[in-house]
Amino acid sequence: MIYKCRNCGANAIYSPEKGTMYCPYCDSQDSEELAPGGGMAVCMNCGGELNPGDYMSAVKCEHCGTYVIFEERTEGTYKPHVILPFKLGKKEVQEKIRARYAKAAFIPADFLSDAKLSEIEGMYIPFFLYDFDCRYTIKATGSKIRRWRSGSYEYTETSLYQVERDATIDFEKLPVDASIAMPDDAMDLIEPYDYKALEEFQTKYMSGFFAEKYNMDATELSPRAKDKAKADAKAIMNKTITGYSTITNRTDNVTMDEKKADYALLPVWCYSYQYKGKDYLFKMNGQTGKIVGKPPVSWERVFGYGATIFGCTSAILTMIMLLAEVL
Ligand SMILES: [Zn+2]
Ligand SMILES: [Zn+2]
Repeated sequence: MIYKCRNCGANAIYSPEKGTMYCPYCDSQDSEELAPGGGMAVCMNCGGELNPGDYMSAVKCEHCGTYVIFEERTEGTYKPHVILPFKLGKKEVQEKIRARYAKAAFIPADFLSDAKLSEIEGMYIPFFLYDFDCRYTIKATGSKIRRWRSGSYEYTETSLYQVERDATIDFEKLPVDASIAMPDDAMDLIEPYDYKALEEFQTKYMSGFFAEKYNMDATELSPRAKDKAKADAKAIMNKTITGYSTITNRTDNVTMDEKKADYALLPVWCYSYQYKGKDYLFKMNGQTGKIVGKPPVSWERVFGYGATIFGCTSAILTMIMLLAEVL
């Protein structure tokens, strides 16, 4: 299916800046109408071939630039419960990338070029948002040691305490990404999202973006969500045990009761940059603008720079090490 402008017939898309549907051709707002059907093989607009692979639920036609959404991957069990519409538009994201990397030395010359930055695409990534009731108990022995001197004697007093903690922690909307293609560490870093902006799912929010349906279901991903929740719970509990010299015989007991898992689409801007046969992927939180990724180092520029300024190898190496810390 595609969204068409009633006024001019062009592809209507969701505009993050305006927060509404928009036609980039005739500039009209809320003029969209849904043209359903079309299947996944060819573009409804130009008849060109589409390549949605196993998981894409929305793509941009390579031939005519129309954003096509696939019914069979957004309905039934694949219908998301909620969606977080893009908040940042492409222009804002390009500016953020420029600002972030403008001062980075030795990046390849075209890394921030208009041509390269225009290739940025927005993509909705499938997530499950888990609610857990967690009960966490700790039993341990804590010691406190007091030392003092009296005359020629030194005294040491060791007091032992039975340390007990029993807490319930409610986790709400703990996110786990359900996309194989997206590196888990990048997705974990790109969080947090402000879930107050979640909307009930509507396909119109997808127009103008790529999207994936979930690759793994909520049951398959549940262990990963639980591990994440347990680690967070442990960190919270550890903060309550302070002031002891030693802690011994510690036993932790955690039970995690899964209340629900909502299927959500969350917005990510993607910038893929190829340099010397290697892919560099940048992800930006489509709501907050948080950027995850490391630009390639152009060795020609490092050596060129080093040779002019320092003229010796050791100084160049120092620069590279500094650079590694900065990025
Ligand atoms: Zn129009
Ligand atoms: Zn097309």
